[in-house]
Amino acid sequence: MTRVLDGNAVGDRIRDDLRDCIDTLEREGVTPGLATVLMSDDPASETYVSMKTRACEDLGIESVHRELDSSAPAEELFDTVEALNGDPSVHGILVQMPVPDHVDKRRVLRSIDPRKDVDGFHPENVGRLVAGDPRYKPCTPHGIQKLLAAADVDPEGEDAVVVGRSEIVGKPMANLLVQKAPGGNATVTVCHSRTDDLAAKTREADIVVAAAGVPEMIDGSMIAEGATVIDVGVNRVDADTEKGYELVGDVDFESAEERAGVITPVPGGVGPMTITMLLYNTVKAASLQAEVPVDLP
Ligand code: NDP
Repeated sequence: MTRVLDGNAVGDRIRDDLRDCIDTLEREGVTPGLATVLMSDDPASETYVSMKTRACEDLGIESVHRELDSSAPAEELFDTVEALNGDPSVHGILVQMPVPDHVDKRRVLRSIDPRKDVDGFHPENVGRLVAGDPRYKPCTPHGIQKLLAAADVDPEGEDAVVVGRSEIVGKPMANLLVQKAPGGNATVTVCHSRTDDLAAKTREADIVVAAAGVPEMIDGSMIAEGATVIDVGVNRVDADTEKGYELVGDVDFESAEERAGVITPVPGGVGPMTITMLLYNTVKAASLQAEVPVDLP
């Protein structure tokens, strides 16, 4: 019997525990604060930011939002980040990616105070993750680690294949799975667009994390019987729906479900965990900056 993991349910449980942490902080006069910065006309980016802001408000995290014209000079963005770095009521800063082409993305990541970098993309935080001393784990792979734990899937000793090597999903996922730490200790293979015979790799895996951004590229024939399949992909494909499209993952759910032991759906799998772990990192940031210990879930 294949188990379909419910990211909403696992995320809700973590959010409940985060509420207790926020109560602890409030008792010490600290309200966690997240700043979101948007410099884009892309409707998807606008939707992501408003989802994050709403999730903060629902939980009791203060949210501030800064919006810049996408044609504004890059310096305006850096000035905005600098002001937020200096604002003690802001514990976490998130600049929604992608930024316009005229803005140096790597400089944006470096400009955020690493103590407020709740996405975990500042080079200092990336380095700490790789060194096995993470401050903020990037939200999507961290959420996947929590989902696996909630499903009692322990990566220790397992063969894991991560499909994708992006800075935000693939690489940090591989790093977390290979760490000598709880939720890690897997033997990890990282695949990408130049990988030869991907199916041969995924077929050998106990755990497959699909993060390529290619609709339904991993089907049942590429999955070992009983494997755990985590689908990160969120892809728009044309469909006869009101909106004219539907969202599908990187995994062909129907055929993969027949072989997998555990599988995540799209939507309702990894997505809700990503936002939950952003809230987690913001609460952690407030706790670290205010020096008020909390019992993080
Ligand atoms: P990127 O486009 O940054 O990276 C995709 C990676 O997949 C690259 O490393 C690329 O290889 C690799 N790849 C592309 N095509 C293939 C292929 N045919 N075979 C093997 N590898 C391939 O994407 P992201 O990491 O940002 O996102 C991946 C997916 O996850 C997207 O659908 C995105 O929307 C979704 N996503 C979902 C989130 C959630 O919360 N659910 C959060 C973040 C992302 P190469 O390096 O060689 O180009």
